[in-house]
Amino acid sequence: MPHLLNVWPSVSRQLAAASHVLLLFDYDGTLTPIVARPEMALLPQDTRRLLAELAGMDRFTVGVVSGREMADVAEKVGIPGLVYAGNHGLEMTGCGMDFVHPEAAAFEASVAEVSGLLREGLAGVPGVEVDNKRLTLSVHFRNAAESSADQVDRTVVTIAAPYVESGMMRITRGKKVVEVRPNLDWGKGKAIQKIRRDLGDGGDSPFTMFFGDDQTDEEGFAVVQEAGGLAVFIGRPREQTLALHQLESPTEVAQVLALLARLDRQ
Ligand SMILES: [Mg+2]
Repeated sequence: MPHLLNVWPSVSRQLAAASHVLLLFDYDGTLTPIVARPEMALLPQDTRRLLAELAGMDRFTVGVVSGREMADVAEKVGIPGLVYAGNHGLEMTGCGMDFVHPEAAAFEASVAEVSGLLREGLAGVPGVEVDNKRLTLSVHFRNAAESSADQVDRTVVTIAAPYVESGMMRITRGKKVVEVRPNLDWGKGKAIQKIRRDLGDGGDSPFTMFFGDDQTDEEGFAVVQEAGGLAVFIGRPREQTLALHQLESPTEVAQVLALLARLDRQ
């Protein structure tokens, strides 16, 4: 899997040839380093400045596609004019989009119900945080003892079982997080397809790059590469990702943002 910076000359030629480039980023672990508490994952100033600079260029459209609630990720990034996709794309805004998945709202009451049950069921496990994100929920266990990870997972599976077995919800996993989501055929992959379609507006879809670090980003990688774009996995080189390119860290993502900003001046 090539490191993106090692193949930058050929990538920059591809980008230079495209009339419009869509740059999409996951948030946690991609634009910001993973931190102990999700609310402390703040965007580095340099990254914010570069994203804003890119968003201001005609050539680029910039978006953040996160598992966080849309309002949360929009506030954390804090740049106007970006596309913001929250709850793995169930809600999106920006660049003419004002989207909530038509079936997602019907799950709010159930998501709240499961969140409540999980808070009760996990109250005895220190360091666990249940985050009701309205359309989906996350159980974070980064601050829990390593030895309780299995117990947390089992508890989520048991408590969510009636909702999962009835076909209403599904469970997904990421880095030190288990999520319960509406069982809809919708995630970051479908969200990215929609963003591309909406931006293409009947004409050519933009050349797309998507940067992500976790399991839920994989469907985004697949969609972007199928469309002839570029998927970049953030982390140590590994074989389990569909992404064909890699960067080591959010710091290297910021380096790529700087290179992208320079592209327009060549
Ligand atoms: Mg991430």
